[in-house]
Amino acid sequence: MTSKRIHLRKTPIYIFFLKKQIPQDFKKIPLEDFTSYSVSKDDDKILLNLEKISKLNTLQKNYKLFLIGQALSKYCKSGDFFIDYFGCEQTDVKNFILGWNLANYNFNKFQSKKFQKKIPKISHESNDEISLLTESYFFIRDLINTPANILGPNEIFNAAKKFLKKFTLTNFVVGKKLEKNFPLISAVGQGADDSKKPIFCEFKFNKKKSKKKVFLIGKGVSFDTGGLNIKTGSGMSLMKKDMGGAANCIGLAKLISDFNLDVDLRLLLCLVENSVSKKSIRPSDIIKSRNGSFVEIGDTDAEGRLILADAITYACEKNADLIIDMATLTGASRVAMGIDVPSFFCNDEDLAMKLIDLSQKTGDPLWQLPLWENYSGQLNSAHADFKNIGNSMFGGAITAALFLQKFVKDIPWIHIDLMAWTKANKFCSYEGGEAMGIRALLELIKRI
Ligand SMILES: [Zn+2]
Repeated sequence: MTSKRIHLRKTPIYIFFLKKQIPQDFKKIPLEDFTSYSVSKDDDKILLNLEKISKLNTLQKNYKLFLIGQALSKYCKSGDFFIDYFGCEQTDVKNFILGWNLANYNFNKFQSKKFQKKIPKISHESNDEISLLTESYFFIRDLINTPANILGPNEIFNAAKKFLKKFTLTNFVVGKKLEKNFPLISAVGQGADDSKKPIFCEFKFNKKKSKKKVFLIGKGVSFDTGGLNIKTGSGMSLMKKDMGGAANCIGLAKLISDFNLDVDLRLLLCLVENSVSKKSIRPSDIIKSRNGSFVEIGDTDAEGRLILADAITYACEKNADLIIDMATLTGASRVAMGIDVPSFFCNDEDLAMKLIDLSQKTGDPLWQLPLWENYSGQLNSAHADFKNIGNSMFGGAITAALFLQKFVKDIPWIHIDLMAWTKANKFCSYEGGEAMGIRALLELIKRI
């Protein structure tokens, strides 16, 4: 139980996970019933009964706490609160607090009428840690929500540079050098206007005694029209979020530096706009990648894996100990998992088990899909080494991951295929860009 002396003027929120934990004098208070919880609010206390979620598995229980935190923040409207809880660990309550903080997010830069929202405050032992997480979440959301007429590759780069104060820029490649050294990144971005020209960049955060070299690679397609294999209107409508992998990697990198983790961290961003123009790559074009293999373009809309491939090759050349890429890569992953749950792929079983465990403990969903080698023939090409898309209408998230794996040398590697977008639901009305997987990955990197 939290010390009450420091919370004199704050209203307590008492959280119970089991009915039997509710103190006798609270038992008669009638609670308002919601789908996943029940609550009562008066001037001097709030009771929150979470019995309905107490039987969920660890991942879903933690995820629900995150959602209920958002709902309760909205329910409390304004004021100053502190938390007292019964029947759970301090770490569980962190999800509730993070959710509470995220409910205060607004993206109203482009709305002429701004409503000043009152923000309810909450105190908890983990406030400092949650504030850092909140800051990264807000950065990621802002970056994804900013449309492509305002945010192109160069603006993403500038935003990263500004946000990553403890990092050094170690590589910035554009133009002829990009064409020569990162031919796939250059090819995908070649259809865009000069003001949106493709960029490969590397930021470094290095602790003196750090031993492990970790590469984070973000897919940063500032807008994805699909290229000459143009998307439908509805397929294109959310495509400002196709830089969500890069946004998440920048947010995660910031957290790694905030927590001062003992790693040699390299952040690689592949920043392009996938446009339609006379310069765009064509289906059937064959491009020699950085690692020398020839890739036939089966579909210009499968561009994310192309830009990641050259960055993965670069990370392998630099003797990475661990490579993590994050990308809004396939619709197939969304079809399989829905929007909340990113899929992940991993070439190292122990590492995959660790990540699953941390995903559950943090309540940050990540679900493993197989690198099903038997499908790799689907990438065969008649005229090049392989194609960038499978020839089957099934298993598209897996064949995309198998394509990336062709560029990974014998190095532990995690590929995250995420939505980077959330829709309004009964817990929260927010719709827009979203951080996904970064809390689980942060805990993983703490432990390598
Ligand atoms: Zn695409």
